[in-house]
Amino acid sequence: MSDEHPRPAITVAVVGGSLAGLSAALLLDRLGLAVQLYSRGAAHSEVARHAGLGVDPQVLTALAGEPAERLPQLNLRERQVLYRGRHQRDPVHLPVTTHALLHDYIAALLPAQRRAPPIEVTSARLREESSGVELQLASGERPSFDLVVGADGADSRLRAIVVGAPAPGEPAGYLQARGWIAESALPEPLRQLFFEPLRLSVAPHARQHFTAFPVPGAGADLTPGQRRLSWSWFFRADPDAPAPVDLHDRLARACDDWPDPVLEVISCTLAHGQAQAREIYELAAPRLVRGGLVLLGDAAHQISPLSGSAPRTTLIDALLLAHYLAEATPADLPGALAQFESRRLPTARALVEQGRSMAWGLRPRGL
Ligand SMILES: Cc1cc2nc3c(=O)[nH]c(=O)nc-3n(C[C@H](O)[C@H](O)[C@H](O)COP(=O)(O)OP(=O)(O)OC[C@H]3O[C@@H](n4cnc5c(N)ncnc54)[C@H](O)[C@@H]3O)c2cc1C
Repeated sequence: MSDEHPRPAITVAVVGGSLAGLSAALLLDRLGLAVQLYSRGAAHSEVARHAGLGVDPQVLTALAGEPAERLPQLNLRERQVLYRGRHQRDPVHLPVTTHALLHDYIAALLPAQRRAPPIEVTSARLREESSGVELQLASGERPSFDLVVGADGADSRLRAIVVGAPAPGEPAGYLQARGWIAESALPEPLRQLFFEPLRLSVAPHARQHFTAFPVPGAGADLTPGQRRLSWSWFFRADPDAPAPVDLHDRLARACDDWPDPVLEVISCTLAHGQAQAREIYELAAPRLVRGGLVLLGDAAHQISPLSGSAPRTTLIDALLLAHYLAEATPADLPGALAQFESRRLPTARALVEQGRSMAWGLRPRGL
């Protein structure tokens, strides 16, 4: 399209201001679309925000438009499998960061004027009288857009409109306890086991699973001694146990299963760090698009955190949406969104299924 006859800008509302929403807003803004991001703001716990994530440098470079060197990250050099009495080690190259640092890195790339002040989106309506979507905001306003990107997370309100019926995630039958502890709070032999060299540690077991790796510390500090160890412990849900889960009690019951370093790290964290358990849900939305409404990230799919692929999948959702909208005018939107859906839906389903199969030993029978 020439400068003399610029293409009409597609107006876009992005609902959700976390990894999916920020990434979509950033990429669509770069394409020259008229983007406004609506989010009610941070809702995640401190434990979750500082949990560790793997970084895919290629995906992040594509998103940021530059090598993501300003993202504070650590490079894991070894993968060790912890067995009782022995460890098996192999070299890896695995950059890692935390959810909060990745979030803040992407947020800093998005021009501030693209973000509305924090607000709840209460609903959306596909306009019948003309194409486009009307949003309903908690303020009572009802702005309309050519395109609404539903990046409103696992409890998405917009999903029900796309699917045509309530479509909540299904309990997967197991829980993830997450925790982190300051490197300096670990006894020296444990610190060495997890930090020298920087290692991804894994303890597999038929009915439980444990992973741990170093992440940047408070204030994104990468200095040895100031970093943190982030871990996840997956275990089967116990319908008879009182809620919320008592991690001390679960740990006492896990004693026979785990190698000593795993027990020590979890119990050190319960004493000196932060930990929290949550139930895991799975979901692959049966469709991603209806009219001018499209779902991304956890609104579209909830992938087992055992696979570690959810954050990367979310960023790729945004990259693909931007790919199909790169040349689009408002008139091209239906075709571009249909192409996005037919490319993304089978992959999202396969990733959810892959996560499910990785967790087979964690599920109660029959799930
Ligand atoms: C804190 C955290 C830690 C994680 N750690 C891991 C991990 O260790 N390993 C792993 O594999 N995966 C992890 N995940 C999951 C993975 O990162 C997600 O799959 C991915 O971040 C998808 O993010 P999202 O933007 O789709 O959803 P979310 O991060 O849930 O964001 C949803 C956004 O929508 C906003 N919102 C929701 N409803 C409304 C509304 N009605 N109106 C306005 N705004 C609304 C929320 O405020 C939020 O900003 C983590 C997720 C979080 C949030």
